[in-house]
Amino acid sequence: MRPRVVIAGLGDTGLLTAIHLSRHADVVGISSKPALVSGQELGTRLARPDAWARNYFVGFDRYRRLDRARVVHGTLIGLDPVARTVEVRSATGTTEQERYDALVISTGVTNGFWRRPELQSLAEVRAAVGAAHARLAAARSINVVGGGAAAVNTAFNLATTWPATEIDLWFPGEHALPQHHRRVWHQVESRLRDAGVRIHAGHRAVVPPGSGCDEITADPVEWTTGQPAAVADATVWAVGRVRPNTGWLPAEVLDEDGFVRVAPDLGVVGAPGVFAIGDVAATDPLRSTARNRADRLLARNIRAHLDGRPLRDYTPARRRWGSVLGFQPEGLLVFTPSGRGFRIPGWSIDTILQPWIVRRGIYGGVRRERG
Ligand SMILES: Cc1cc2nc3c(=O)[nH]c(=O)nc-3n(C[C@H](O)[C@H](O)[C@H](O)COP(=O)(O)OP(=O)(O)OC[C@H]3O[C@@H](n4cnc5c(N)ncnc54)[C@H](O)[C@@H]3O)c2cc1C
Repeated sequence: MRPRVVIAGLGDTGLLTAIHLSRHADVVGISSKPALVSGQELGTRLARPDAWARNYFVGFDRYRRLDRARVVHGTLIGLDPVARTVEVRSATGTTEQERYDALVISTGVTNGFWRRPELQSLAEVRAAVGAAHARLAAARSINVVGGGAAAVNTAFNLATTWPATEIDLWFPGEHALPQHHRRVWHQVESRLRDAGVRIHAGHRAVVPPGSGCDEITADPVEWTTGQPAAVADATVWAVGRVRPNTGWLPAEVLDEDGFVRVAPDLGVVGAPGVFAIGDVAATDPLRSTARNRADRLLARNIRAHLDGRPLRDYTPARRRWGSVLGFQPEGLLVFTPSGRGFRIPGWSIDTILQPWIVRRGIYGGVRRERG
């Protein structure tokens, strides 16, 4: 009998892990979304949602390698590591136990209004994406608060899409992108200025109480650093207040911040047969397994675990790397961990990169959208 692998959370990393394992095991993917709804490329999602959806909002039925997997649209509500089951409340309201031989925890984190763990239908995801876009399209001035990649990506893409809108980027340090190599900010800053973004270092915002920064707000932004409040029609909060989606897990598998405690081989400490990957896995300070593509290593390790073979360790990168500004008509600028930028030319994005390297190479084949 083929082993059964349950993938808890089918976002960026859970989906890739499911794809690698689907030829070797009976894969069951459990997802609160009915499709891949990636948390990547916030700026494109807000400014050009149709372009974003082509690559980051993709129905599970379009992935050829998921054809043999069973996808359950529902919410994980419990784990019993002794019985080796997870409990799932399905979209139809029933509660089921799913047995596993190996379990992958890949439920990610909650971040702002764009990465939410709640159960949603396709129509609800589309409506939320459309509402945020419409709100910003109607604004004549927009504050973007935050100094990480999501904030910088947002400011740049809003500015290039709506050149007549005033875009202000506010962050607390001397420079943004503190987790990237210093060279990255030097290169990105000049592009932001060329796009008309007004850059304000040294501003630490008073974050709205409760979950106030989980929505686009209209109130003036106050600063703990003493400057006058910043008024704009809309404020996007991208301040990196991530919360792990681990409320469904027993406390003994979590660290003090609520992330999943893993060994270097991505196995969950004290829970044999359970693994974690992505933003929920406490591997290293940057929790970097997603962008470092540890999905391939994890799939190999799960197969090794099921066969009784030794597992390999994950080696994290010390700095963030990858794209910051996202896909642009002139191409995709990618930064290495040492801060060097290289450009993938614009002409090759839709002719080579997306169809051959991403859809075929990384995802093993993605069908065209019907209709
Ligand atoms: C190919 C690739 C390229 C990348 N490139 C870059 C880059 O250039 N630069 C960069 O900074 N980063 C990059 N990243 C990393 C990216 O920024 C994030 O780290 C990544 O999106 C996190 O993926 P995740 O699977 O951990 O979380 P998510 O994609 O958020 O997936 C978690 C999923 O679990 C669901 N979920 C949560 N709770 C439950 C529950 N109780 N029950 C059921 N479902 C639940 C969520 O709704 C979501 O669908 C890249 C990642 C990948 C895979």
